[in-house]
Amino acid sequence: MDNQMLTILGSTGSIGQQALEVAKLRGFGIFALTAHSNVDIIEKQIREFKPRKAAMYSEEAAKELKLRVADTDTKVLCGMDGICECSGEKVDFVLNSIVGMAGLLPTISAIKSANKLALANKETLVAGGHIVTELAKANNVPILPVDSEHSAIFQSLQGMSDKKEIKRLILTASGGPFFGKTKEELESVTLEQALNHPNWSMGAKITVDSATMMNKGLELIEAVWLFDVSPKDIDILVHRQSVIHSLVEFVDNSVIAQLGVPDMRIPIQYALTYPERYPSPVKQLRLEEYATLTFSQPDYDTFSCINLCKEAILSGGLFPAAVNSANEAANLLFRQGKIRFMDIPELVRKAASEVPNVTDFTTDDIFETDKLMRSLVNGYVI
Ligand code: NAD
Ligand code: MG
Repeated sequence: MDNQMLTILGSTGSIGQQALEVAKLRGFGIFALTAHSNVDIIEKQIREFKPRKAAMYSEEAAKELKLRVADTDTKVLCGMDGICECSGEKVDFVLNSIVGMAGLLPTISAIKSANKLALANKETLVAGGHIVTELAKANNVPILPVDSEHSAIFQSLQGMSDKKEIKRLILTASGGPFFGKTKEELESVTLEQALNHPNWSMGAKITVDSATMMNKGLELIEAVWLFDVSPKDIDILVHRQSVIHSLVEFVDNSVIAQLGVPDMRIPIQYALTYPERYPSPVKQLRLEEYATLTFSQPDYDTFSCINLCKEAILSGGLFPAAVNSANEAANLLFRQGKIRFMDIPELVRKAASEVPNVTDFTTDDIFETDKLMRSLVNGYVI
């Protein structure tokens, strides 16, 4: 496992920074780093990890970074083209931890260059699942899950001899900060409350998605594509302690699960070192420290975002892309204080119902849908 070369997309984010920690610990080399605009963080990362290339999505940030790291050997690139150039350079692994649809083209670029992909960017699979997975198959590129639930399922599937042995996948959900609340109570929740996740420390977008439980809906679609199972064979189980990260039930009713303290460095490292395992700085799981582990059904009526995703993947076509993009827009409006929490599912449902019903589509259609959804959602609010 030594001397692996890694490119990390979204290196300034929550997953990106933890991935660099894992890379340092394992002694992996860093070929390229990319980010949206945080020059302070990426400058520090460039000085420490000395990548060959770095790319900033923002043109202004790229200019600033170029000046700041002029004394280093790192070449600074700019825009989506620059990010795709980085992900398309041959390395051992590209870890995509960009948030949102912006991760789609870099994912495609990595696969086309036959780079193994460690994928945290779930929106890529939600919006373009069949395009991404077919391309990966054609290029013989494995997609290793970084999302903790999907890593748990992937780990639970090791040793399975045939896919037919799977009866169902059980995705666990913490339930987020608003577990147990009624619709009426959710009318008045604030951004600060939504950002206060009980178990995980993550970027702002996914933290709000966890509060609406849209995150679990997106993860259901992500699981369909990663494991090639029907959405009908995926169940969601609320498990407040986030110790059991997901489970697989087999045809003999045997259930295999993966457990651990909630810390993303485990799934990140497993994706990068699979099939091998190495020591990690993550705290040991001591089950005796947990008085009880609890399990319950999600409240689908109150957290209707899960249903929106289920309906979208069952309808197929551009519906999952539409729900994902409408959610990105609504999630942002909520974080900007422009809409209320309970407006999120409403706006997503309204916008996604406007998407044309097609069976065959291209990456361009996904981007058209993205534009349409953003303009519809923003239009409802003005
Ligand atoms: P984050 O907001 O902390 O970081 C996002 C990264 O993406 C940053 O480096 C940012 O610069 C970059 N980025 C944002 N917009 C961009 C754009 N338009 N072009 C290029 N780069 C852009 O997010 P995060 O919490 O690290 O999550 C990243 C991804 O991983 C998401 O898809 C999320 O759903 C998934 N994920 C995160 C966690 C977690 O614990 N944080 C767990 C599971 C899955
Ligand atoms: Mg997850």
